[in-house]
Amino acid sequence: MVPIQMVDLKRQYTKIKSQVDAAIGEVLESTAFINGGAVQQFAGALQSYLGAKHVIPCANGTDALQIAMMALGLQPGDEVITPSFTFIATAEVIALLHLKPVFVDVDPKTYCLDVAAVEKAITPKTKAIVPVHLYGHVADMEPLMALAAKHNLFVVEDNAQAIGADYTFADGTKKKAGTIGHIGCTSFFPSKNLGCYGDGGAIFTNDDAIAAQLRMVANHGQSARYYHDVVGCNSRLDSVQAAVLNIKLPLLDEYISARRAVADAYDAAFADVPQITTPYRAANSYHVFHQYTLQIDGADRNELQQYLSTKGVPAMIYYPVPGHRQKMFEHFGGASFNLPVTDNLTTKVISLPIHTEMDADQLEHIIQSVKSFLNNTPA
Ligand SMILES: *Cc1c(COP(=O)(O)O)cnc(C)c1O
Repeated sequence: MVPIQMVDLKRQYTKIKSQVDAAIGEVLESTAFINGGAVQQFAGALQSYLGAKHVIPCANGTDALQIAMMALGLQPGDEVITPSFTFIATAEVIALLHLKPVFVDVDPKTYCLDVAAVEKAITPKTKAIVPVHLYGHVADMEPLMALAAKHNLFVVEDNAQAIGADYTFADGTKKKAGTIGHIGCTSFFPSKNLGCYGDGGAIFTNDDAIAAQLRMVANHGQSARYYHDVVGCNSRLDSVQAAVLNIKLPLLDEYISARRAVADAYDAAFADVPQITTPYRAANSYHVFHQYTLQIDGADRNELQQYLSTKGVPAMIYYPVPGHRQKMFEHFGGASFNLPVTDNLTTKVISLPIHTEMDADQLEHIIQSVKSFLNNTPA
């Protein structure tokens, strides 16, 4: 059996090696390393794929979030509501800009922002909400957008884990995750569902004025060459990364199907295991399974992780410490935030390998390893 990895980038690359190598070779020959044709081509292709009016490529997903907050003109002390159960970058950029992260709990089924909890956290200082489409499941955007409209708040989607996911509105309309809020942000970190071979990111919006502001902020606040209107930053997707993404974007739907097939196999195998809660799929969210995350009850997930590693099965805890319990955010209230669902999840979740190259024998080995540990642990 081929050794199992959380994400098998080597085997994925092997399948597209000739196209990728040729595309990178073209960039090298052109020497248009920054803002070359590959970057323009990719921005256009992603725009059509997402059905977004504007796509602004940038250097990474963290920058995408930071540029989004900067472009909205938020002022120091403004409050931004965000989940605590997410990767650190989401709240880190809020604090970096001297805004105040206000952590709210997540829905116990979807692990995404609990809209009722968001409503309770709104104060006169609240200016924005940052939902995270965690593990590839889209947050419940329709009621969230209605709430934001009612209180005149911006919504910035952290779509680093859910590129390609669809959200279905009550009237049947479908939109891609990241194109529903005022701004959507994503990451092309290699292990993401659409990953490049280094760092990369992008920002989406359907609003022309916001797009202009995003472009300006990402390019030193420049409105015309050497005329700088606002303090910005320098954040670019380089042409080599765009060349890789140009090969991989047309394969994204195939990659998503491959991930969903792995998720379906895990779901079926674990359906009758009493200690396991398999990932929930809300009817309005087309889950793209950036992670396949189990909730373990009546057994120790850390012991399960250790046992799996002795069987050659990697597994990860995303995330062991929620934002509100991180030292960096202590002065924002820290553990005084009452987030029971988040606290509970951080002790129970474990993510199994999921990627585009999983074989049937690897899958079977992972499933049997998980089951053999739990069968020997009384529920
Ligand atoms: C990966 C990730 C980011 C940051 O992306 P980078 O490209 O690594 O900066 C932000 N938010 C979430 C939820 C992520 O998973």
